[in-house]
Amino acid sequence: MKSLGSIRRDFAPWNDPNAKPYIQFDNVTKKFGDFTAVNNLSLTIFEREFFALLGASGCGKSTLLRMLAGFEEPTSGRILLDGQDLRGIPPYRRPVNMMFQSYALFPHMTVENNIAFGLKQEGMPKPDIEKRVAEMLKLVKLEQFAKRKPHQLSGGQRQRVALARSVAKRPKVLLLDEPLGALDKKLREETQFELMDLQQELGLTFVVVTHDQEEAMTMADRIAIMDKGEVMQVATPAEIYEAPASRFVAHFVGNVNMFEGKVAERSANTTRITGPSGAQIVVENGGAATANADIVFAIRPEKIRVSSKKPADAVNALEGEVYDIAYLGDMTVYHVRLDDGQIVRASALNAARVTEDPLTWNDRAWVSFRPDAGVVLAR
Ligand code: ATP
Repeated sequence: MKSLGSIRRDFAPWNDPNAKPYIQFDNVTKKFGDFTAVNNLSLTIFEREFFALLGASGCGKSTLLRMLAGFEEPTSGRILLDGQDLRGIPPYRRPVNMMFQSYALFPHMTVENNIAFGLKQEGMPKPDIEKRVAEMLKLVKLEQFAKRKPHQLSGGQRQRVALARSVAKRPKVLLLDEPLGALDKKLREETQFELMDLQQELGLTFVVVTHDQEEAMTMADRIAIMDKGEVMQVATPAEIYEAPASRFVAHFVGNVNMFEGKVAERSANTTRITGPSGAQIVVENGGAATANADIVFAIRPEKIRVSSKKPADAVNALEGEVYDIAYLGDMTVYHVRLDDGQIVRASALNAARVTEDPLTWNDRAWVSFRPDAGVVLAR
């Protein structure tokens, strides 16, 4: 069976027409004075989903999260949780908890007291609190650190205390605003997997805000790509990467080559595209493009092969010259300047320690790709 990307997961309520959304943003607009931070946005999130809001700084991600938590009210539109309109319900009455970027731990309290704080405020009986705190400490693997204060912990450990504290009250939905922002790269990666395991174990719905695409791709079931207060695409990470709906999304996530051209011919399965210099390519996945339409063909660097000779079996092969090479260890990135001047980025996995077809700067070279290697997008 072929599937987009390499992941097959049985959890996909968004494809089930009978599945009931858990969180619904219904034509939500948020204005600050005459500035529109969120613009008539609609979005649904399902129970137990790990959902990521991804976008550049200022695109409205945090505002969306804050409205769900109850720190802001929409200017217009509705937010529903499990069918209930949240308007007017104060944050502490919503089955939602938020973990802030700064973690906001109490510096004078021990780890266990930090975790217990919300439970005490709720009036939970003492033995129950003790049990719950022990459970939480185990969950985030901080049993030995219960008596320490936040300043006696590493950044990663503090992050785990914040996490334990925010799930201690068993919210139905956990909102995380740049949860790993303060961690270094290696720790971030480890923590991403921990967060995913934790979410699975607790069966909660997570909504995470991030500007880091790798983080969103790693953790989320689905991603909403946002720009200027609007949603540009909502899809699984593999769909976002392999089948971006627009130039914006294709550019925003990962590297991409764009070939501008006109549709010369359309048949049931293939689309023939002519570039400005007359070069022809044949592609599948022609989308809705009609004959003569101005389009772009978007293709990821790893789907392009670079070789010194024209591959005999290649449907699409364009000739040029090696312009730049970057050897990165696991892969090598080539920039090839085609004869019409366009620079194509291609990356080759260094699956072996030696290469059969070594290329160097200024060598003549061919770039080739399969007809199903990219997508046709409107210009
Ligand atoms: P970042 O990644 O930088 O946190 P973001 O996507 O989360 O960005 P928001 O915090 O949602 O962005 O802000 C969206 C826009 O709304 C920004 O331009 C911001 O300046 C503006 N904004 C947010 N809160 C307020 C406020 N209380 N008053 C006025 N403008 C605000």
